[in-house]
Amino acid sequence: MSGQIKKFMEFVIAKNPGEREYHQAVQEVAETILPFLAENPKYMAAKVFERMTEPERVVIFRIPWIDDKGEVQINRGYRIEMNSAIGPYKGGMRFHPTVNLGILKFLAFEQVFKNSLTSLPMGGGKGGSDFDPKGKSDNEVMRFCQSLMTELFRHIGPNTDVPAGDIGVGGREVGFMFGQYKRIVNEFTGVFTGKGIEYGGSLIRPEATGYGTVYFAQEMLATINEGFKGKRVTISGSGNVAQFAAQKVNELGGKVVTLSDSSGYIYDPDGIDPEKLAFVTQLKNVKRGRIREYADQFGVKYVEGESRPWYEKCDIALPCATQNELNGEQAKALVDNGCICVSEGANMPSTPEAVEIFLKNKILYGPGKAANAGGVSTSGLEMSQNSLRLSWTREEVDQRLHNIMINIHKTCVEYGKEGDFVNYVKGANIGGFVKVADAMMAQGYV
Ligand code: NAP
Repeated sequence: MSGQIKKFMEFVIAKNPGEREYHQAVQEVAETILPFLAENPKYMAAKVFERMTEPERVVIFRIPWIDDKGEVQINRGYRIEMNSAIGPYKGGMRFHPTVNLGILKFLAFEQVFKNSLTSLPMGGGKGGSDFDPKGKSDNEVMRFCQSLMTELFRHIGPNTDVPAGDIGVGGREVGFMFGQYKRIVNEFTGVFTGKGIEYGGSLIRPEATGYGTVYFAQEMLATINEGFKGKRVTISGSGNVAQFAAQKVNELGGKVVTLSDSSGYIYDPDGIDPEKLAFVTQLKNVKRGRIREYADQFGVKYVEGESRPWYEKCDIALPCATQNELNGEQAKALVDNGCICVSEGANMPSTPEAVEIFLKNKILYGPGKAANAGGVSTSGLEMSQNSLRLSWTREEVDQRLHNIMINIHKTCVEYGKEGDFVNYVKGANIGGFVKVADAMMAQGYV
């Protein structure tokens, strides 16, 4: 099989030269899908998996805008429309200086499997720009978003492609992009998710990815009769996903001991309780400050220049910042320190070496495409509410989200069981693949 994987990867690398993260994401899936294909040759003959690695469409465009000093700035915008076999393209927009084609293709590829796992009718897409919202005024962010949408509007729509937020894109950015879309097409539709409550957003959407990551961990822990109560939890990041993961861990009686940003991490042995978490929310979402200020405020340890908190002792780790933020050595430290569960709030935060260590040591390891699917699930619920022109209550949305995470866990167990052990990587990949592959087979070579 390794010869077949090598051959398949040569094909992917030749088609997508230099796109390191994309190769990594495809290889991780190929390692579990190719053996499955060998047992299910109908997919092989139709080259379904090869077709899934080729985006249906990629749009790249110029985004000129004027900064507060009156100078012209130019960024690059992207939208990857990866797969629409089971529904409109769906996936977030990322604004970060590191954004490039390969990173967005990896995210769009993962999104196809993730969206399929949710059981909702959503295809996969992703987009963004190398624009950095950090240090920009609200007016600059607005002008940038309006310029971006002046091109993007022609490629998206409530039945075509429905973007949402991701790194660097929160409620403010979604609001500016949605406003410009509405102005250009002169239609109020559910073209974006993650909208404000006043204009079609869903309750629980901001919380959903973080909550879902914890719900998924809860399901994994239940398989060994464990739970969050009394557990030490390390979390990376301090953005949307990290904040709400921390909130849910607190609710379930766990103790969150770390948070980070791209400048460093804080370690609070007493736990980041709800009151301290409220400080973080204000610091990050309103003041747009740095996590270091938490250490100044509460007199705890701050490690400058190290945004990975994985050497701190914990029972459960929730990587919630970015891709490749947990390497093999750090995975080994987690296992050696007694960590029993890793649930990924971020997309592909663990390197292939780290994943290998988790699987070899048979700890509970929930890969992002399953564990962080709560965000897009609730986006799907936002789309349903928009179509119905109704708003569900907080409790109703949370209950639906919780059920979806329980069902994703069940699917992973169904396809990933290896004796007493559940290989969630295999479970998520095959579980996500089958529905999309069957839809592609039914629709012919399109
Ligand atoms: P966010 O609100 O922008 O927060 C991102 C956090 O990660 C910030 O604390 C940021 O620190 C840190 N970070 C970003 N890039 C980093 C880097 N290169 N090195 C170290 N730290 C870095 O974004 P988010 O929505 O929470 O997204 C976090 C992760 O979850 C991403 O992998 C995203 O794809 C994934 N995800 C998000 C959703 C969603 O609904 N939002 C859904 C599924 C998956 P700075 O502020 O210093 O940059």
